[in-house]
Amino acid sequence: MVDENTISRWAVAGALDPKDSATRKMFELGMRLRRESDAPVYDLSLGNPHLEPPSLWRDAIVTMLATEPPGQHRYMPNAGFGYVRAFIAERETARFGVPFTEADVIMTVGAAGAMAITLRSIADPGDEVLVPSPFFPDYEHYARAVGAKLVLAPTRADFTLDIPAIERAITDRTRVVVVNSPNNPTGAVYTDGELAELGRMLGGTQGRPSAARGRPIYVIEDSPYRDIVFDGSTPASILGHYDHVVHISSHSKDLGLAGERIGFAAISPRAPGRTLLQRALPFANRVLGFVSAPALMQRSLPRVLGQPGGRVDTGVYERNALAFYEPLGALGFGVTPARGGLFLFPRVPASWLDAFGDAAGEALAQQLAERRTLVVPGGTFGSPQHIRIALCVPGTDVEGALAAFRDVAARPKAP
Ligand code: PLP
Repeated sequence: MVDENTISRWAVAGALDPKDSATRKMFELGMRLRRESDAPVYDLSLGNPHLEPPSLWRDAIVTMLATEPPGQHRYMPNAGFGYVRAFIAERETARFGVPFTEADVIMTVGAAGAMAITLRSIADPGDEVLVPSPFFPDYEHYARAVGAKLVLAPTRADFTLDIPAIERAITDRTRVVVVNSPNNPTGAVYTDGELAELGRMLGGTQGRPSAARGRPIYVIEDSPYRDIVFDGSTPASILGHYDHVVHISSHSKDLGLAGERIGFAAISPRAPGRTLLQRALPFANRVLGFVSAPALMQRSLPRVLGQPGGRVDTGVYERNALAFYEPLGALGFGVTPARGGLFLFPRVPASWLDAFGDAAGEALAQQLAERRTLVVPGGTFGSPQHIRIALCVPGTDVEGALAAFRDVAARPKAP
């Protein structure tokens, strides 16, 4: 019997969370299946991009290591190299039409590191962090790590933002609204109209102070999938519609560098708290133990981003999504086409809902796993009647997975 008192309440609620272990169970099951047999495993459970970084990036790393003068691998300012921050600020300014400066950009250990330091800089214990649901489950742990509480507001059935539902979920304690577009797990990409409405509801460019404390509500725009939009467009941002914004992104997906941990937080130059955030975020980077983003990764960015060949070709994600729609629809799944990102989030067929109710996603995932096909039950993301399918696999895996779906989905086995 494990004595839970040996670890913190936060760690108990996170590391021992049954929802968390559902994803891990799938991962471990995949490992076991691979050990037991050479037959293929179709692992659609993790959003782990399988595409290699562009050769331009590899060449840049080799060149840097071979030619740079000494002193490149030492401590640096906690916000990162000035010239890299200035480079990112210029790109973000061009992208959003909002005048970022070097001081507004803090280089981070991925989008996850940026979320951690931004929440730490804005939210206090007892505050509420509001997120549209279905949602990326790590938000709950990030919020709890700063003593804040995650509050969910449902999206509409097609996963678009339900602004009245968000407004209803706002309380005196709401401090942050997290917006994730393209979305994990739903594949939704919010329109400019949706984000403008959200900005208006929050008080427009003046920002509505939270009633109890006179403190504004911030929007953290968490956008690690922003360069994976299937129609090739640049996804809309709330930056033009609201002032209290920190925009976050990373190069885990567009450059295939998830393991190298490089991202950034960009403080809206219109945020009234801008200069304080410029001090708070690097401080949080330091004392949360990141210290700074990896030096070599930072320096690789100006050599690659915006150059011909300077990004991964993510077309396979859309091709995989397209390959799923019709067959899943024919099997009775409720499929909302993904507009971007790495995932599909179909609702399981009615026969499964009849047989299993709210355990339907879990039951289907289990039975697919018996056919060597791994998906994540939607309960992990706050929506137990769905499953999440990761699209970051070779196209041949989609064919194999669909054979398992055909075998399993039509005939729910009794619980
Ligand atoms: N936010 C969302 C919604 C994600 O899905 C992920 C990664 O899966 C992250 C943040 C973290 O990304 P990064 O690898 O840049 O830390």
